[in-house]
Amino acid sequence: MESRILGRFARNLCTAMTQRLQRLLDNNRHWAQHEQERDPAYFSKLLGQQAPEFLWIGCSDSRVPANQITGLAPGEVFVHRNVGNLVVHTDLNCLAVIDFAVDLLHVKHVIVVGHHGCSGVRMALRRSAGGLAEHWLRHLQDVQGKHAALVDAVAGAEEKVNLLAELNVLEQASNVCESTIVREAWRQRADLTVSGWIYSLRDGLLIDLGFNVDGRTDLDSARSGSLALIRSRYGC
Ligand code: ZN
Repeated sequence: MESRILGRFARNLCTAMTQRLQRLLDNNRHWAQHEQERDPAYFSKLLGQQAPEFLWIGCSDSRVPANQITGLAPGEVFVHRNVGNLVVHTDLNCLAVIDFAVDLLHVKHVIVVGHHGCSGVRMALRRSAGGLAEHWLRHLQDVQGKHAALVDAVAGAEEKVNLLAELNVLEQASNVCESTIVREAWRQRADLTVSGWIYSLRDGLLIDLGFNVDGRTDLDSARSGSLALIRSRYGC
């Protein structure tokens, strides 16, 4: 009796899962058909070598899809995402993406994009992650420690999350600039900039945090300028 009930439960679960996944496959077919009708050469053009001008390093959060919020088509932006949009000097995954984008695809812009209401930032502030995530979010806590006076000066819990998300963009964009990959690229060419943006879930708008660095820019000055802008946004 019990095994029959369990069997039925497993079948229902399987059906529900198949239906959910089928929706994605159906959506994909409609999308491919729509693009094909809009431009019969759409997919044949994408078959050629990709040549995106942008590398987007953003958070894995499902509400911040790079192509959609920037209005870019497939082929126009190379994307790396992880929880908290972190650029860790020993993270071979992220470094390989930066290397591929800068050295092979010759992107012209690397953009680190954080977002307000970031769950990773919130968990880091609350020390509530646990498990492997706790090790990863330790990097965000390091950013918090580096800017402790500013984060402590802001009163509201959500304001703290948003401020730390912006400070984190500043630090991770700086890490991109300090990577050997970007330093070497700047020795060879001038047309590479590193920028830092924050995305607001509230209104869907991207905000330039004033961090725009190329090979001729003094990194410390760029950091000071961006930090002053972030501080002015929070009055701290
Ligand atoms: Zn996030």
